[in-house]
Amino acid sequence: MSEEQKLYDAIVIGSGPAGLTASIYLGRANKKHLVIEGFEPGGQLTTTDVVENFPGFPEGITGPELMEKVKEQAAKFGAEFLMEEVTTLDLSSRPFKVEAGGETFLAKTLILAMGAEARYLGMESETRFKGKGVSACATCDGFFYRGKEVAVIGGGDTACEEALYLTNHASVIHLIHRRDELRASKIMADRVKSHPKIVIHWDRVVDEVLGDQTGMTGLRIKHPGTGETEQLDVYGMFVAIGHKPKTDILKGQLPLDEAGYLKLEGGPVHTGIPGVFAAGDVADRVFRQAVSAAGTGCMAGIAASRMVEAEEGE
Ligand SMILES: Cc1cc2nc3c(=O)[nH]c(=O)nc-3n(C[C@H](O)[C@H](O)[C@H](O)COP(=O)(O)OP(=O)(O)OC[C@H]3O[C@@H](n4cnc5c(N)ncnc54)[C@H](O)[C@@H]3O)c2cc1C
Repeated sequence: MSEEQKLYDAIVIGSGPAGLTASIYLGRANKKHLVIEGFEPGGQLTTTDVVENFPGFPEGITGPELMEKVKEQAAKFGAEFLMEEVTTLDLSSRPFKVEAGGETFLAKTLILAMGAEARYLGMESETRFKGKGVSACATCDGFFYRGKEVAVIGGGDTACEEALYLTNHASVIHLIHRRDELRASKIMADRVKSHPKIVIHWDRVVDEVLGDQTGMTGLRIKHPGTGETEQLDVYGMFVAIGHKPKTDILKGQLPLDEAGYLKLEGGPVHTGIPGVFAAGDVADRVFRQAVSAAGTGCMAGIAASRMVEAEEGE
């Protein structure tokens, strides 16, 4: 492949809802572009059964099916795909250099859409019941627990937000926290402490997720000091101990916040480097939804196309 062939109008890093939506917009604007899919083609949604809140699917759709359709749509408009992970990025000059699978690609513009992953406790029983009671997203899965008891694990702002959101659906929310005070902001902590549906279990950790072939049926929690255990009859466990944005390849090149999220500046999908755009969960610690990722993917695709067109007209 010649240098000429390896030069793209845009390279999209990531093939979740953000990256693939950016690709649809780049393709429809007739921009030569490459989507480097990473080792989770389709992104986080491919790990979930039912998606009920993506517009256009009133009966719901499985995550893998939805992402297959989005990829098909991107391919229809001319996307090139590479199932590799980007190992190195050089953003010091344009065209930007992107290394993946032992090759170097050049990009006039870049769209960073590497997503984020939820942190879990790392227990075997937790992994066994992922998607069958264990979740890391109340907005995504809270609806399935109408009238049931659930647990939320954590004590920061995210855990408090998840617990408060779940009060719309669940009958009782057990908040399991390993310390004797919440790390969340005072206003959030006060709302949680005073909510009649939320029961806080202080100084407790998860000992075991319990269940059978049908899914999760309970949770054993433990006082780490005394070893005393207690069983809760909950059908859902929402782990809310943070997310890890996939921004390792950006370290030292773009500003990241204390949790590792990419910091945006100068526009809704803009980074401090002209021509480098970001979309989806990689820069979103607030919403973390497929439709919001797709929305910013659209914006990044349009912004990159316009930049290339403006430069071609110069
Ligand atoms: C179990 C589960 C259920 C969910 N349910 C819902 C739901 O019902 N509704 C909803 O709206 N949201 C749901 N979400 C959240 C939703 O999946 C995310 O908000 C959304 O996928 C974010 O899209 P994204 O494109 O930003 O990133 P992701 O979907 O995380 O995709 C990131 C992409 O980047 C790639 N990548 C990462 N690093 C590299 C690299 N170095 N080089 C190349 N590629 C790389 C990965 O392979 C992947 O393709 C759920 C999430 C989970 C985990």
